[in-house]
Amino acid sequence: MNLSESEELRALLAREQDLVVVNSCAVTAEAVRQTRQAIRRARKARPDARLLVTGCAAEVERAALAAMPEVDGLIANHAKLDPRAWNVAPQRTPDTATHTRAFIAVQNGCDHACTFCVIPQGRGGSRSLPVAAVLREVERHLDRGTSEVVLTGVDLTSWGQDLPGEPRLGALVAALLAAFPALPRLRLSSVDGIEIDPALFALLASEERLMPHLHLSLQHGNDLILKRMKRRHLRRDALALVAALKARRADLAVGADLIAGFPTESAAAHADNLSIIAELGVVHGHVFPYSARAGTPAARMPQLAPAAVKTRAAELRAAVAVQRAAWLATLVGKPLAVLAERDGTGHAPNFARVALPPGTRPGEIVIHTPTRLVEGLLA
Ligand code: SF4
Repeated sequence: MNLSESEELRALLAREQDLVVVNSCAVTAEAVRQTRQAIRRARKARPDARLLVTGCAAEVERAALAAMPEVDGLIANHAKLDPRAWNVAPQRTPDTATHTRAFIAVQNGCDHACTFCVIPQGRGGSRSLPVAAVLREVERHLDRGTSEVVLTGVDLTSWGQDLPGEPRLGALVAALLAAFPALPRLRLSSVDGIEIDPALFALLASEERLMPHLHLSLQHGNDLILKRMKRRHLRRDALALVAALKARRADLAVGADLIAGFPTESAAAHADNLSIIAELGVVHGHVFPYSARAGTPAARMPQLAPAAVKTRAAELRAAVAVQRAAWLATLVGKPLAVLAERDGTGHAPNFARVALPPGTRPGEIVIHTPTRLVEGLLA
């Protein structure tokens, strides 16, 4: 989401030479710490520029950020893509694509109330981009030669619930694939497995242009913790979903967001969190050590010692690394369609990262057969 929005901001503000914008994140305490660090660094690099901060931390940590001497002002997160908020003319500068992959934020905000999460405070309720607007965005990116479109959202699978007729995400994906037969690749960022509608399931199971890559906002592998988090799925729901999809699409790569050390997490609950990694075959893991966010119900629950949270996060990361290494090893010797990026690497449909031979043009999809694994990278 932030990548996609930062790209839009860059285009909107490209002519503002003396402006530095920090588009912040508040999802964890660590993200806020890094935001403060980015602000200090930016101020050092550009002592005379006007430095404005927007993003979720500018909502959730408003007073603290405004009090930083480096900061000249805050822009409300909901207004950041509105030219009027920045006092600039409402025109776009010509696009200068910096990504061969285009991230399109089709949904923003969230109507859920997971007990650990500050995002609804930072981004407000769920809003969806109407189909026509999504089609226009995709067309704009395809005109620039983009080979892969990634649909993103804070709660992507709730797309459509606020639109007339309440269409589901599967309908949007089908509409995009039908409208743009020349679009080689469509990818979903993170999805809430329990919200996958039947049409989306069918597309994930068999549509070749929808990448075989399912990233679940899983958060935990233990049912009691999932309930305390106020998630809407149970462990068995995630297992059943992945088993059903893998039965239909064997090359599906599974990713997951997992929180380590949620309040009250017992040793047994942590063991469930660890074991679901192997059971699902999680090869793309985003592990977050739990950090209490002010104003959330989880912040009032009995907390684990910070050292225990850290150790458990390390154990989860190690478990993902084991899955990932075994999975990458199975891809050696297999031809992969790799979308080349600017740094000499690219991603296969299953999102494995591959080092490409020198001279490969960014934006091209090349067939490459990796012969070995070098430091976790197929080459
Ligand atoms: S679904 Fe839960 S974790 Fe995700 S943004 Fe909404 S409240 Fe936060």
